[in-house]
Amino acid sequence: MSAKQFGFILIISLLFLKLPLASSNAQTFEIKFSPAAVVYRRTLAEESQLFDCMLQNFVVINRSNVAIALQKIELHLLSKGEVVQSRYILAQELQRRAQRIFSLNEQGALAEAEKEFRLKELFRNASLSSSNTLQPNQGLLIRHQYLQFGGQVDKIKVVAIGNARDGSVVQSTAEIAVISYQLTTKLNFPLTATWYVSNGIDVSGTHRWGIGQEFAYDLVKVDEEGNSGKGDETKPQSFYAYGQNVLAPADGVVYETRDGIDDTPVSQLADDDPSVVNKKILAYQIVLRKRYGVRGTDGNYIIMDHGNSEYSVFVHLKKGSLRIKKGDRVKRGDIIAQVGQSGLSTEPHLHYEVVSDPDPFKQRGLPVVFYDLEGEEGATQLHLGQFVKSSQ
Ligand SMILES: [Zn+2]
Repeated sequence: MSAKQFGFILIISLLFLKLPLASSNAQTFEIKFSPAAVVYRRTLAEESQLFDCMLQNFVVINRSNVAIALQKIELHLLSKGEVVQSRYILAQELQRRAQRIFSLNEQGALAEAEKEFRLKELFRNASLSSSNTLQPNQGLLIRHQYLQFGGQVDKIKVVAIGNARDGSVVQSTAEIAVISYQLTTKLNFPLTATWYVSNGIDVSGTHRWGIGQEFAYDLVKVDEEGNSGKGDETKPQSFYAYGQNVLAPADGVVYETRDGIDDTPVSQLADDDPSVVNKKILAYQIVLRKRYGVRGTDGNYIIMDHGNSEYSVFVHLKKGSLRIKKGDRVKRGDIIAQVGQSGLSTEPHLHYEVVSDPDPFKQRGLPVVFYDLEGEEGATQLHLGQFVKSSQ
């Protein structure tokens, strides 16, 4: 090798060595979202053009070959390329989040909840960091960024900013599209008579914080006084919802079912203190997943394929009430099962959601609207605390 060639190679390798820290184009941090590619915006108030969305999970992984202290994550909401709103997650908060997720994972608590945390998908050739200082191929998981915004936000830009030990500042960016998803399937309300929405897409409920159930509804049958039952509160039969027919909201093919699971005793999760109820729910969730697998909390369920990657999921159904089986073709309005009290349910109700994929580890929830509600015109989403009735 001539001296000239050697010098050339040396310069090239110096450039490569410098690259991870010196170039602003090099992605020191890998930033990845799950669910990937898009986040679904919902309308909060049409007149005031107020919307919201939930960024369920994203990771920031150090892909350079030196340790980097992650100082700040910026979330910028963009409308046609202009920043209209920003949120910052600063070092102290990043540190707190890193510690919490790391210790939960160490305790084995996240394996139970992989369908929500998606660690296997997000941390390819990487591991969780216990602090905001990320060693090479270490990262941290940021969950549940709930964002409200006015106007037509069409993108979220995430910027991760850190410091290497030599003091140099590094930063990487990634973007995710914000869209308003419209189901191809035109859904009818899957129940008859009047029902109360006891859990919906509002963030004060629990659904929005889960990936598959982000746009799910819990429906409870009530009388004129708003009571969900009468008589012995410990018996599922005392609740008006129990045994009510569930109807196919649209044509479809039965993709998967499970029957044979007993009612969860209503007293199992009951307590006057809501914090005790929460603890009981968390503990029973683990019991059900151990006993019945990843869908353990669903109890008896039906998954119906409507085509176009849209699947209806009916959960907590009554044991022995399923009238259909895998592969059956179902017509809109057909009776498919009855409302029950199986799985993780505090009282008899129907949990209904639409997902993009039947696989709990790949799916995401899709915004549900109904086309046949009494007193409503066209596609209508439901809200917590609302009474609804099909006009059919
Ligand atoms: Zn639910």
